[in-house]
Amino acid sequence: MNPLYVVGIGPGEYKKMTIEAAEILQDCDVIAGYAVYVDLMRKIPAFADKEYIVTGMRQEKERCRLALLSALEGKKTALVCSGDAGVYGMAGILMELKADTLNPDDMNPEIRVVAGVTAALSGAAVLGAPLGHDFSVVSLSDLLTPWEKIEKRLRCAAMSDFVICLYNPSSRSRKEYLRRACELAGEYRRPDTVCGYVKNIGRAGQKFEILTLRELKEVSADMFTTVFIGNSMTKRIGDQMVTPRGYLKE
Ligand code: SAH
Repeated sequence: MNPLYVVGIGPGEYKKMTIEAAEILQDCDVIAGYAVYVDLMRKIPAFADKEYIVTGMRQEKERCRLALLSALEGKKTALVCSGDAGVYGMAGILMELKADTLNPDDMNPEIRVVAGVTAALSGAAVLGAPLGHDFSVVSLSDLLTPWEKIEKRLRCAAMSDFVICLYNPSSRSRKEYLRRACELAGEYRRPDTVCGYVKNIGRAGQKFEILTLRELKEVSADMFTTVFIGNSMTKRIGDQMVTPRGYLKE
């Protein structure tokens, strides 16, 4: 039986996909994914003739179920995710769902994860080199994680002088979360700490800004924004955000 692939497609543009991901998708009969990513895939000529399984936001389990069914029917199937498939992505859910619903003694598709460029990395490249030293990634989405835990992680990361990369910084129902995260970081960092954000990385409408922590607090981010809060050493060099590794001090 063909394996079921979970493929990280990177930020969205074809040329930012890995060669491995592109080759696997090319070889598949069926591509399953969230509507926004399926639309991106359909526009790529190499994948235009694929059969697509499209599901909406918050239908992650259903998306996995349909992808599993397609693989069980013997079709070469890939479930696509933006960025990396394991970073706040579908790889884990798919493995859990398979373990919970299929009998391990029956013939089952093996699940193979194909790494992609996560937003922290593609966004960092747009800003310059903000992740030149230790960093932590925190998602501000409290749909599946209690907000108290998110605050604790933010606090610990800020206290430890990690560069902090924020995923899911905001949505219509969570407008105030980025402001709150900035306030928490501000308990340990100067208001002029160098920060940045990138919207729509590798997609139409890509936009970035480098600004201070004080200014970041006022930004209205959307769900296609990735935010970077610099550490105490992060600086601005021209229009780039740079966190030094420390070589020049040697
Ligand atoms: N698996 C994805 C992350 C999914 S969580 C990855 O590895 O990149 C969704 C969050 O990722 C968004 O809220 C946003 O913070 C970030 N993100 C994903 N794609 C993005 C893009 N093209 N531009 C900016 N941010 C993006």
